[in-house]
Amino acid sequence: KIYYDSDADLSLLEGKQIVFLGFGNQGAAQAQNLRDSGIPNERILIANRRDAYAEDATSKGFIVEHDFVKAAFVADILFILIPDQVQPKVFNEQFAPNLKPSATIVVASGYNVLFKLLTFSPQQDVVMVAPRMIGSSVRSLYQKGKGYPCFVSVEQDGTGKGFSIALALSRAIGATKAGAIASSAREETAMDLLAEQALWPNIIMLFREAFSVLKEAGCSDEALCYEMWMSKEPAEIFERAAEEGFITQLKHHSIVSQYGQLNGALSLDGVSTRAHFKDILNNQILSGKFSRHLTNIEPELELEGFDNPLNRLYEQMEQSELAQAEKRVRERLAGLL
Ligand code: NDP
Repeated sequence: KIYYDSDADLSLLEGKQIVFLGFGNQGAAQAQNLRDSGIPNERILIANRRDAYAEDATSKGFIVEHDFVKAAFVADILFILIPDQVQPKVFNEQFAPNLKPSATIVVASGYNVLFKLLTFSPQQDVVMVAPRMIGSSVRSLYQKGKGYPCFVSVEQDGTGKGFSIALALSRAIGATKAGAIASSAREETAMDLLAEQALWPNIIMLFREAFSVLKEAGCSDEALCYEMWMSKEPAEIFERAAEEGFITQLKHHSIVSQYGQLNGALSLDGVSTRAHFKDILNNQILSGKFSRHLTNIEPELELEGFDNPLNRLYEQMEQSELAQAEKRVRERLAGLL
């Protein structure tokens, strides 16, 4: 089911104190949209450590609270808009013990709710309002009077009004203009993590292998980089796919290309890929194995250099033929790109 502006009652937010934990990509965009939707500035509080994000919020006219315990005390509605991996520590230690028993807690990603990494009281509402859009576009589309796709759900309905409040918040941040799609933390997390851990890794692998095969066949670094992604042709293709249809966009390609793509895709049965994707979905994602792993390595993700596992992965990937070739091309073309 898809919900529009007319399904959402903004009056449910009247008199509520709304706290945004975090003023980053989503926090800055959502807080500004909410204010421009008519929520008075004095009803919005930005909870952020004393740094550049806090300064940005102050410069935009918001009231900022650096003490999270104080912010928790006053919140009727709390948007948790800090990175997923740090939410459990910050929320469970500083917000959960101090929140009102009837507070509404809003997440923009289902991850920590699905894996029960956040501690809620039974009377609280826990809702998901998850834009499918980067923060800067959440803001710019709102300013242009347009909406953006968003998933909405109620995960715990302590007050019995959780879903209506979620819809009101979706409208206030500009999401119901294009239609907010009923979803769940489980659905959102399954789709997000499967794309991140199976679909895109396979796409990266396919580009890497195609690059190596063509390089071996004598193609130049420049030709390959431009042919495969630097021309922005793949970006154009995905834009057409979103606008016209995943398959229909093929009609913009030459007949040779259309025939090759359709014939090639239909001759791949996908059986082993499907089994691999199912294995990742069931045994890594939904089983909670990945989330336990991430919880274990989370402190290391704050470290500098190769003590940080993410930096080690980057280093490894940068050794690939594709990455090395692209580096050479970008160095040669420096100033022209
Ligand atoms: P950001 O990385 O932009 O978050 C930055 C904010 O988090 C800053 O205010 C920062 O302030 C604060 N922060 C970071 N670390 C800490 C910490 N240890 N303690 C307290 N505050 C901290 O996050 P996003 O906006 O990208 O993501 C927020 C949520 O939105 C996530 O749940 C994400 O999954 C979801 N989401 C994100 C999308 C996106 O496009 N980015 C799209 C849809 C959903 P400071 O460092 O000063 O403390």
